[in-house]
Amino acid sequence: MAYDDVFQRAVEQLHAERRYRVFADLERRVGDFPRATWHAPEGPRDVVVWCSNDYLGMGQHPKVLAALTETATRVGAGAGGTRNIAGTNHPLVLLEQELADLHGKEAGLVFTSGYVSNEASISTIARLLPNCLILSDALNHASMIAGMRGSGCARKVFRHNDLDDLERLLQEAGRERPKIIAFESVYSMDGDVAPIAGICDLAERYNAMTYLDEVHAVGMYGPRGGGIAEREGVMHRVDIIEGTLAKGFGVIGGYVTASRPVIDAIRSYAPGFIFTTAMPPAIAAAARASVEHLKNSQVERDRHQRQSMQTKIALAARGLPVMPSETHIVPVLVGCPEKAKAATDMLLSEHGIYIQPINYPTVPRGTERLRISPSPAHDDALIRDLARALDAVWSKLDLPRRYEAIAAE
Ligand SMILES: *Cc1c(COP(=O)(O)O)cnc(C)c1O
Repeated sequence: MAYDDVFQRAVEQLHAERRYRVFADLERRVGDFPRATWHAPEGPRDVVVWCSNDYLGMGQHPKVLAALTETATRVGAGAGGTRNIAGTNHPLVLLEQELADLHGKEAGLVFTSGYVSNEASISTIARLLPNCLILSDALNHASMIAGMRGSGCARKVFRHNDLDDLERLLQEAGRERPKIIAFESVYSMDGDVAPIAGICDLAERYNAMTYLDEVHAVGMYGPRGGGIAEREGVMHRVDIIEGTLAKGFGVIGGYVTASRPVIDAIRSYAPGFIFTTAMPPAIAAAARASVEHLKNSQVERDRHQRQSMQTKIALAARGLPVMPSETHIVPVLVGCPEKAKAATDMLLSEHGIYIQPINYPTVPRGTERLRISPSPAHDDALIRDLARALDAVWSKLDLPRRYEAIAAE
């Protein structure tokens, strides 16, 4: 068996489907966000990044950097072990308290990423519930799906954000069977928002648990950055709230918050928590500084919303097909993987603008798009430059300008 040939052919398949991915080799610069150095094949160049998930620029906030460096200098680089064996560092304990408080829950548990937090928590709670049925929104993130699969439990998918479809499945299952409804607050590819209160009403009526991924909302929505559930006054009605420390909070790591028994069970039973080294203490301190800052500061959230709105207005004014979004995400439809790639290549090489094309399987075929994420640091001049550049690229490549015309079913 020529092993390498197998892998070579697998990669060639992606080339044939025009969805082979190329990474941009970037170097971010403190104080210069959202600008970065792009290590291009021909040498380093300045670019403006328009697709970062460091939504608020907290990755270089002075308080976050101070906590990181001060803690690393004082206690060292690594955690030194799993949480069971020497890895429970004091800054991590403080971070978990901070996160429990953020979501108004009894307890919190930190993981090395949001992906791991979803995978480990969902698989563990579903496995511990006898004959559990998981009801999953059709657009849930890959990490939640990995957790559902890992649980070995039955799973039914309800139509995206569709309360009637969810109720039909709840009715079928009956009140007695243990059920978990798993969903997100902000869906990051379309920028739409779940009907959280409506889902909680159904969960109460049919006696189901609720598991909410607030990854694209924490730090950014709610008076203290607790997410959409906080903004809508329903945090206390959601059983388990999961989030990341890597996007709005700008660092790395993931977490769940819930009642003490739920968190204690995950802590005690989840292999993805038990058998891996803990988050380094300096990272925990940096993340906590970020969470704490955003609990008390509204200016980043206000400016984030303003600049996102300004971006949508500027692009729409130039006749670009901005997809409807209720949040800070600005998706612009292209509808074809080759053209999405050609557009982003041209933006980078001719305009110094870095946006990654979003292709299948992240979004359905025919809805390939540019997903633009403005931050508080994308000022009005940068927004004008972006609109001008996109307009030029759209004309040069003769891309469709009407959203309705090419939207997939
Ligand atoms: C990014 C993402 C995650 C994973 O979070 P990481 O901290 O990046 O591992 C989980 N859920 C959703 C919806 C995401 O977009």
